[in-house]
Amino acid sequence: MKTKLCGMCEEQTKKSRNSKPHDYMSRIDECRIFKGRSERGFEEQDYQCQACHSKMTHSTNKNDLAWTLWQG
Ligand SMILES: [Zn+2]
Repeated sequence: MKTKLCGMCEEQTKKSRNSKPHDYMSRIDECRIFKGRSERGFEEQDYQCQACHSKMTHSTNKNDLAWTLWQG
């Protein structure tokens, strides 16, 4: 079964790295912290939307997308 992305999530995927998750987003799992030796570390946090149940990861890694939707 495919979940349809709600409008809020649709917008979320376009948001910047510094933006907050939308109101129906709740954290799942612990924040993952990656520490680089030479470069600055980054963090990843998983979220699930309570409206459409899609999952997203927020990353502070510069080489990554800020908000990545999981492929279901
Ligand atoms: Zn949603």
